[in-house]
Amino acid sequence: MDKVAPGVYRINLPLPWELDTVNVHLVELEDGFLLVDAGFGTDACFGALEASLLGSRIGWNDIRKLCITHMHPDHVGLAAHILELSGADLLMHADEAEYLAQSANTGRNMAFFDKALAAAGTPAELQDRVHKSFTQIRNTFKVLRPAWPLRGGEKMPVAGGTLEFVWTPGHSPGHMCLYSPEHGYLISGDHILEDITPNITWHPERDTLADYLGSLEMLIPYPIRTVLPSHGNPFEGHGEWIRATHQHHAERCDRILQSIGQGSDTAHAIVLDMWQGKLSAFHYHFAVLEILAHLEFMRRKGRLAASSGEPAIRWTAA
Ligand SMILES: [Zn+2]
Ligand SMILES: [Zn+2]
Repeated sequence: MDKVAPGVYRINLPLPWELDTVNVHLVELEDGFLLVDAGFGTDACFGALEASLLGSRIGWNDIRKLCITHMHPDHVGLAAHILELSGADLLMHADEAEYLAQSANTGRNMAFFDKALAAAGTPAELQDRVHKSFTQIRNTFKVLRPAWPLRGGEKMPVAGGTLEFVWTPGHSPGHMCLYSPEHGYLISGDHILEDITPNITWHPERDTLADYLGSLEMLIPYPIRTVLPSHGNPFEGHGEWIRATHQHHAERCDRILQSIGQGSDTAHAIVLDMWQGKLSAFHYHFAVLEILAHLEFMRRKGRLAASSGEPAIRWTAA
């Protein structure tokens, strides 16, 4: 457990895949602790969290509140178990709780993921492999009912100050960051990461990339001294990171337009062109949903036209 800001401790936990660790944060309250995020739903992750708490003489009862930044499996995995052990109150965005309820106990992808793969022109055999590659992860999802459903703008007293909940949609529709005005730190979840850009996934009826870039822009004026991300180390300079990330997505849009210019007319064909078929089914899923998010972003900007043909959408330069 490392102290990363006044009254904030980071616990680094193991993950079974190659983005290989996730951080959870403990924030001191006047009475007990707020735990931000809940790691992945494995015995290894639970063992590491428990050992770290015990090593600092913190019992499960000392955790009074649990905040989930977003419902991805490396952030929500142990939540149900931790709530049971601690009796803590759960805080998460109402939309994330809803997405989680749709994913839990179904044994299936959320229906819109299947629709997205069909719209992308993903061959049926690959759709099947993508589906199978998520079986283990889907089994870790459990329905959660927040005691405090968040919408953004809420404030909470903590030892030596307050925390503000900042709604930052994009990486996930109900993603939350936690900002300390007194100490200038931002617990950023997966919204701002140290040295990778977070995955932006297509969602129906949304322009997730525009949401994401807007949520980044909104944070520029915040006087943030330290970013505390879920993956990687604390760092300074969020303004510079945000500018570089804007540039990254602008370049990706240009690369996609180039691929379309060379005849790739579905999201699947663009993924094959950009990654040259070197992706596992698991990674293909993230790539194709990210390409769909960029295609929708450019369509709404008038840079691309989309066919209404079913099921695969064909894309042409506008
Ligand atoms: Zn995430
Ligand atoms: Zn994550």
